[in-house]
Parts: sequence; C-alpha cells; structure tokens
Amino acid sequence: MKYEAVIGLEVHAQLLTDSKIFCGCSTRFGAEPNTQVCPVCMGMPGVLPVLNKKAVEYAVKMALATKCTMNKKSIFARKNYFYPDLPKDYQISMYNEPLAEHGSVEIETEGGRKKIGITRIHMEEDAGKLLHAETPEEAGSSFVDLNRTGVPLIEIVSEPDIGTPEEASEYLKSLRDILLYLEICDCNMEEGSLRCDANVSVRPEGTTEFGTKAEVKNMNSFKFMRDALSYEIERQIEMLESGERVVQQTRLFDPVEGKTRSMRTKEEEHDYRYFPEPDLLPLVIEDRKIEELRRTLPELPAAKKQRFIKEYSIPPYDAGVLTTSKELADYYEAAVKLSGEPKTVSNWVMGELLRLLKEHSKDIPRCPITPEALSALLTMVSDGRISAKMAKGVFEEMFTSGKDAEAVVKAKGLAQISDAGELEKVIAEVLEKNPENVEKFRTGKEKLFGFFVGQVMKATKGQANPQMVTKLLKEKLS
Ligand code: ADP
Ligand code: ZN
Ligand code: MG
Repeated sequence: MKYEAVIGLEVHAQLLTDSKIFCGCSTRFGAEPNTQVCPVCMGMPGVLPVLNKKAVEYAVKMALATKCTMNKKSIFARKNYFYPDLPKDYQISMYNEPLAEHGSVEIETEGGRKKIGITRIHMEEDAGKLLHAETPEEAGSSFVDLNRTGVPLIEIVSEPDIGTPEEASEYLKSLRDILLYLEICDCNMEEGSLRCDANVSVRPEGTTEFGTKAEVKNMNSFKFMRDALSYEIERQIEMLESGERVVQQTRLFDPVEGKTRSMRTKEEEHDYRYFPEPDLLPLVIEDRKIEELRRTLPELPAAKKQRFIKEYSIPPYDAGVLTTSKELADYYEAAVKLSGEPKTVSNWVMGELLRLLKEHSKDIPRCPITPEALSALLTMVSDGRISAKMAKGVFEEMFTSGKDAEAVVKAKGLAQISDAGELEKVIAEVLEKNPENVEKFRTGKEKLFGFFVGQVMKATKGQANPQMVTKLLKEKLS
C-alpha cells in the first residue's frame, strides 16, 4: 500500500514593534536577562494590559496580504497553563474569535502552482525563555529570562493542504517573503522571530479521511523542518504498516540525531480553559482603518514576480530568484532602468553578484557594487571596450576593491583593442610571419582561419575584439 502525508503548519511570527504588546517595555533582542521587564509583563497582581496599536496594524497588514477576511470583532482570550516562563500562568491569545480567517497563499510545486489555505491569523503575547545550566557551578539549575515575555506575535494557522516536506518548506518561505516585504518581522529563525510547528499525519494514498496527527516542535531552520517532516512521515508509515496506531502527540525534533521524539501527549483545547480576557475590550477595527492599511501594502512577492516576467520578458525562474527579497528586486530594477538590458542584468545579478555576495557573506544593502556601477560595466561590454569574459574579472575586482569599472580596466590595462588601425597592423604581422599557411588557406584549407584568429589573440594577449578580428582577417585573407 502507498501512503501520503497530510501537513498543516502553525507559524509564529514576532512583530517588529519597538515595545511589547501590552506594556511599554523594549522588545530588543539580546539584552541582559530580565532588564526589559515591568510589572505588566512580569505578571504582577493588579496590573492592566494596554494594547499596542502598531502591533494591531502589523497583524492586519499580514491578514490583508494573505487574503484573509477581517473579523468585525475579535476577542482576546486567556489560555491557561503553567510553565516557569509564563509568570501570569496564562497567555493572552485569541480563541474562537480571531483577528482574521479564510486566507490563502500560493506556492510553486513540481506540479505547478498550488493554493494553501490559511485557517486563521490571531494575535498573542510571547512567553519568556528558560536558560539551562551551562557551567559546572550552575549544574542542575535553570534560569528564567522574561525579556521576551509579552513580545507581540501573530500565529498563522494553515489548512491541512500541504502534501510534502518540500511543499511545507515552500509555504513557510512564501510566508517569510511576505512578512519581510511588509517589514513587520525580521524572520530570523535562529533568534526565534519566525517559528514553526508542523502537524503531520499519513493516510493510504487516495483516501480522504485524515489519520491521527503528531505535532512536531522546535524546528528552527528550513532544513530542519524538511528533515523532521521526512522522518516523522516515515515513522508513521512504519507504524501503520506494522499494525500499530499513531497516537496524538507533541514531538520534539532533535537536529543532531535527525529524529523526532515524544515530548508529551497532546493537550486538548479544553485543557486550556480558554475564557475572554476581562481586562481587554473586544478589538474592533473600523473599515476605514483597514482600507487605509490596505493602501499601504507594498507590491507583494508573487505580484512582483508576475510583473517581472511580463515587463522584462525574463524566465519565471529568473523572476522568482530576483524577487526573493525586496532589496534584490529593487537592485535589479534599478540596473535594468539604467542599462535597458533585462536578461543580461538578470544573468549578472543571479550569477556573479549573488555568488560573490554569498562568498563574502554580504547582502544587497551592503553590496559594494551599485546598480549604477554594474550598468556602467555592461555598457563597456556592449560598446566593445572589454569582452564579456574580461568583464567577469573586472566585476570581481570591483566587488573586492569597491572601485568602478573604468578604474579597474585602466589599472589592469585590460581594455579591449577595438581600434581597426591597431588590429590591422597586428594582422599584417601575423600574415607576414606565416606565408605558407596563408597560401594553404587561399588554396582551400579554410580550417586554418581559426589558426590566424588564435595568432592575433596571442599577439594581443587576448585583448583583441574577437568580432573585429574575424571581420578584418576575412577581408585581408580573401
Ligand atoms: P489542534 O486542535 O490539535 O490544535 P487544529 O485543528 O487546531 O488542531 O489544527 C492545528 C493544525 O493542524 C492546523 O494547521 C491544521 O491544518 C493541522 N491539522 C489538523 N488535522 C490534521 C491532520 N489530521 N493531519 C495533519 N495536520 C492536521
Ligand atoms: Zn513590560
Ligand atoms: Mg488548535
């Protein structure tokens, strides 16, 4: 029997506000433990939460960008559980009246584009962080850092529309791209700004009923997510094949072992004793405000990609790579506007530029070559001053030295010889030195043409303009 996987993701994104969701404490990452806290986020008795307006605006932007329906009214709710990093013993979240519902994003799959449904997006506060002993003196101790307590999050819950680890990865990537384009989350998975829990079950291929799912936590990279899902799918298939039943569980991925292991049996929703947060009013966002936010949405990755394909006639693959970030897309467009050569610029950006950025661990905002400088280099190629091959070396030199093309070409004495007079002189010398081959060529041995080209290139140390050499040689030999 063949099996297929059913996957749904719960993605948490930390919103890039300066202050926390219900108090004025800073959200900055990496501060000394417990230095960004106050009675509200430390869960002291008698305090009152005050909702952060910017956090709401950011959450609405994400809901609009993923085509969700905004709820007229949403309700903050208390989700009760005990954990040492949760001083209030409850998390303020949203329950049966979330901020927005019924959205979708599109992903690329082997079989074409596929729509992944978004069940809901809701707002909530983050919990603190537990730090476990690292030195012998601390052995056996754990510490609580409440700096992260109360940092605003949105949770984006997908429909179980995802079929493979690859698709899950593509889906998470499209969410990440949208969040980055909206500039509402830095999506740093290592620092936990973007976190993902994956629900996965398997069922015999072609059947419609869902199998029992397991929830996998702690996957802080795209690769770990794919590895964890692949492992988990295999594990569940093996269980079914040996006649066992999958139990509903929360499992933890161990990236060192490449395995998932059971953390706890999954708690049921009623365990949390959700009830409306009595200290906060229902959240009602006026239509006027929503429309105002809608107008501030930038062109999103998917739309930009389609526009690049149409406007610049570049292949979908190129458009996909060039729109992975807004900065890269802007860079590309700026260079195209200056040089007017969409496909050539695309080749340079996707090839040399991205390669060098990666090698030097740099990104577009810190790229030493501006779109102007790239365009100037391409003009030197199209004017025949340097060959495309030389241009690669020049580009690399520009990247490492920060100099412009003109300066590099001058310093290296690289300029291509396109001066007809100069080339004619070289050609005349070559023909003079090889009278026998000239004779053979003229009596029919046309293959020797390559030999003459080679001699001219050698005499000019490869700097002769190849098109002109061919043209002039033909004239002289005939
Ligand atoms: P729970 O009540 O356990 O939190 P939900 O119904 O809220 O489950 O769904 C949580 C996530 O799990 C969603 O992303 C959903 O798409 C996904 N999901 C639900 N049922 C299944 C299943 N049988 N297999 C895989 N994923 C599932
Ligand atoms: Zn605080
Ligand atoms: Mg649920």
